[in-house]
Amino acid sequence: MTPEKPFRPLSESELAVLRQIAGEDHVLVAPADLQPFSHDWTEDFVFPPAAVARPRTVSEVSRILAFCNERRIPVTPQGGRTGLSGGALPLLGGLALCLDRMNSILEIDEKNAVATVEPGVVTQTLHEAVEALGLSYPPDPASRGSCTIGGNLAENAGGPHAAKYGVTGKWVMGLEAVLASGDVIVTGGKTRKDVAGYDLTSLLVGSEGTLAVVTKAWLRLIPKPAARAVLVAPFATLEESMAAVVEVYRRGLVPAACEFVDRPATEVSSKRKGVTLPFPEAEARLLLEFDGGGDEEVERDVTRAGEAALDCGALDVVVAADERRMRELWEIRRGIGEAVRDLGHSSELDVAVPRSELAALVRGIREIASEAGFSSVAFGHAADGNIHVHVYGPGSGEAGEELFRQTARKIYALAASLGGTVTGEHGVGITSRDCLSFCRNPAAIAAMRAVKDALDPRGILNPGKLFPPLSEHGEPR
Ligand SMILES: Cc1cc2nc3c(=O)[nH]c(=O)nc-3n(C[C@H](O)[C@H](O)[C@H](O)COP(=O)(O)OP(=O)(O)OC[C@H]3O[C@@H](n4cnc5c(N)ncnc54)[C@H](O)[C@@H]3O)c2cc1C
Repeated sequence: MTPEKPFRPLSESELAVLRQIAGEDHVLVAPADLQPFSHDWTEDFVFPPAAVARPRTVSEVSRILAFCNERRIPVTPQGGRTGLSGGALPLLGGLALCLDRMNSILEIDEKNAVATVEPGVVTQTLHEAVEALGLSYPPDPASRGSCTIGGNLAENAGGPHAAKYGVTGKWVMGLEAVLASGDVIVTGGKTRKDVAGYDLTSLLVGSEGTLAVVTKAWLRLIPKPAARAVLVAPFATLEESMAAVVEVYRRGLVPAACEFVDRPATEVSSKRKGVTLPFPEAEARLLLEFDGGGDEEVERDVTRAGEAALDCGALDVVVAADERRMRELWEIRRGIGEAVRDLGHSSELDVAVPRSELAALVRGIREIASEAGFSSVAFGHAADGNIHVHVYGPGSGEAGEELFRQTARKIYALAASLGGTVTGEHGVGITSRDCLSFCRNPAAIAAMRAVKDALDPRGILNPGKLFPPLSEHGEPR
């Protein structure tokens, strides 16, 4: 992938101003120092910034943005750089604005059950801090050990427990954010009910660093569930596994997590872990987790879910309620994200469809991939109809890349034709921006552009992301 505009370098005088704001040690320019800020987890893309600034305060962020806005310097906000849609890549050079030094948990207010945090807090660090007080912050991207709250907010990240608790946005009560102009806005706070004007919190959540830089967040907490249990069920066919997902909900059960892993994904993860699972021939496996206020309630739910799975053709049902065994059952699912790296060059997609269309989606993906001479693995959040797909196989050089692109396009089109979307939780970024029109009509894309133009008229914030490139006639392609 090549950027559509030239790389924007920074002059010595521009660097001097940035050093004066963020401090000498917190502006990086040496090529070796820039390397980690040149990539995230998206395929093998590398886009070095001209410089990196690592501010410590909202005032520094504000002054940096005001200066970059005046000079039209592109600014790419960065958190943990674990993104899978290329959101943190400095596509046009310019400045990478890394929020990793703004990493304080400012307050955990137990009375109001609200955490106030800076954007650079690693998600797992917040989980551990609130759990120590008997509280829970449910959003849990599988990357939680290295992703940050800022990145989660910008991508409206999900994760396995979104099945019951929803995505990041559901837990945000207010944000402090800096606009491209340098102006600081506050969109809410600790008050639970607040409908004063446009819901700017929701507008900024999921805006992928294109509208503002988040510098503080007020996040809702709940009591930590007292009991948990996990169930794993293999199925001979994809259709049976998906029927079981629908049936679990039809019986009034609400799993905390409801994960799907297809046979190729199981193979790649179990190979990496060096384990052989029972029923290796199973085309699909489901992992369901239940939580609640007590053992009895959770045991009842997990038993009823097991019955539903068996009624839909599960080959077996394995249940665990102790921590060690639950961890073991989660291991294959959790290991896939890393294991797919062993597949070599692959293209990753994050599509979502109504839950009832999942089997048709996975079947269709396999057909599309195999027609192009590729293989695919599919896994993800079945309850949300959200599947991660890796398409891999021979395909080097420009022709190979083009074949990957065409295949991805067909898969995005398939998801949209099933009533779904081109991204369920990873964001549009650069990976699906050309296909945004598959799930948003021209008027909706124009409305998004109008918001972008209003908040960032010079287009300095994360340029090249989210929107399809404009054609020479100024129309979305
Ligand atoms: C192994 C693995 C598993 C994953 N599992 C999941 C999963 O289960 N669910 C899920 O949703 N995602 C998952 N992801 C994707 C990724 O971890 C998430 O998108 C995460 O939210 C990115 O956070 P980050 O801090 O790494 O952000 P980055 O990658 O650094 O940035 C992501 C976006 O956020 C913007 N941004 C960062 N900080 C700010 C800020 N302060 N203000 C404004 N914009 C900002 C960036 O510009 C960019 O557009 C996974 C990734 C990996 C590698």
